[in-house]
Amino acid sequence: MIRNEEIEKIIDEDQQGSALALEKNDSNSRKLYIESYGCQMNFSDSEIVASILAKEGFNTTQDLAEADLVLVNTCSIREKAEQTVRKRLEKFNAVKRTNPGMKVGVLGCMAERLKSKFLEEEKIVDMVVGPDAYKDLPNLIQEIDEGRNAVNVILSKDETYGDVAPVRLNSNGVTAFVSITRGCDNMCTFCVVPFTRGRERSRDPQSILEEVNDLWERGFKEITLLGQNVDSYLWYGGGLKKDYEKASEMQKATSVNFAKLLEMVALAQPKLRIRFSTSNPQDMTLDVIEAMAKYKNICKYIHLPVQSGSDRVLKAMNRLHTRAEYFELIDNIKGIIPDCAISQDMIAGFPTETEEDHQDTLSLMEYVKYDFGFMFAYSERPGTLAARKLEDDIPEATKKRRLQEIIAIQQKHSLYRTEQHVGKVEEVLIEGASKKSDAHWMGRNSQNTVVVFPKENYKVGEFVNVKINDCTSATLLGEAVGMSENN
Ligand code: SF4
Repeated sequence: MIRNEEIEKIIDEDQQGSALALEKNDSNSRKLYIESYGCQMNFSDSEIVASILAKEGFNTTQDLAEADLVLVNTCSIREKAEQTVRKRLEKFNAVKRTNPGMKVGVLGCMAERLKSKFLEEEKIVDMVVGPDAYKDLPNLIQEIDEGRNAVNVILSKDETYGDVAPVRLNSNGVTAFVSITRGCDNMCTFCVVPFTRGRERSRDPQSILEEVNDLWERGFKEITLLGQNVDSYLWYGGGLKKDYEKASEMQKATSVNFAKLLEMVALAQPKLRIRFSTSNPQDMTLDVIEAMAKYKNICKYIHLPVQSGSDRVLKAMNRLHTRAEYFELIDNIKGIIPDCAISQDMIAGFPTETEEDHQDTLSLMEYVKYDFGFMFAYSERPGTLAARKLEDDIPEATKKRRLQEIIAIQQKHSLYRTEQHVGKVEEVLIEGASKKSDAHWMGRNSQNTVVVFPKENYKVGEFVNVKINDCTSATLLGEAVGMSENN
């Protein structure tokens, strides 16, 4: 962790604004502006990048016009995500006219997917850096400072950035991400991640615990353990997950899987709230659910993408579980943790999807009645197995109609789930002011549902018991009835 007298934390008196805590090193003279798109993993990576560059003389700035270096951490999950980045880069042309010394770099999955082609396609870009090459940034910046373009998109077999202490960006000072694995070995046919983030490798549990303990000491009250596929976490001394079978008996005997890691973190800081994301149904095991039930500070919420309710489509997606096996997992979760909230990812209009397949998706949603979800129409990603083997044959109008039906059912179920909280007293961690009213705090309950209530004398970072009086499909509305004993 960057900790010395020179570092001065400037905390905005009113803990509600946007960028709250920026760690500054007064001897740093260069200005870094970093913008992140996509998943939580990308936002967490941007904090790693800010840390690496803080040691190279960069402080972060929220002011684009004064930036010496502009970095865009890109997402490639859907075509739309890439178009958003291209539009943003266009905007930088105008800024560059008034700030000609400004250098522009692209990071993340789109950088990894396009590699040096990015330089040809977007003339404003000086540097292209893949998700595993951030430690090479000091060298790459030297190259662009000397007027050359710079590219490093090498994927790593062991990089986890476990030895880099993230600089918290746009932090509310209460919740933080802690990445535990990188890459993904599941080759879902629609997904670009295995090509842009490489093979799975897990981070040393000791470095995870160090980061968790440091966050607690710094006043953070909730962490989210992050990975493309956290259930697949497996530490056996370093290296790729796929090489585990070659490990020694001793390494296997002392290995740490996800359930064990959850237990270690829960015991290390019993008052710190723990969340995790993202799970994959084919890798989630009973011991993870039992660990969640055993420790009060592990939140009762699971993000469990399913993508389709049809066995035929799940097979075409290379999702290694069936509809029945998914139901069995849901039944186990609800059996062991009855009040556990579950959210989903769903794709409408995957190649060859029939009306019957779509109905299977709707009936799966009826069975689970998810708390909320992230639902998208299929977007063909270059280089994926689906793009190479399957024609994107579902008409846009059909994709759109099916997506609307999925969203409509989800909204009905979201309301059904929030209504179940009305009349109950819920423990809420205050994260900040409500977007809609400055007289109200917003926070989340253990189920990750947003709760809004009048501020009274309570403060950000406190655990408060809130009586839920009303709800919408996304938010619980209530009044504080006292401090939680968890403070
Ligand atoms: S589990 Fe599948 S969808 Fe998720 S990151 Fe891995 S390949 Fe992509």
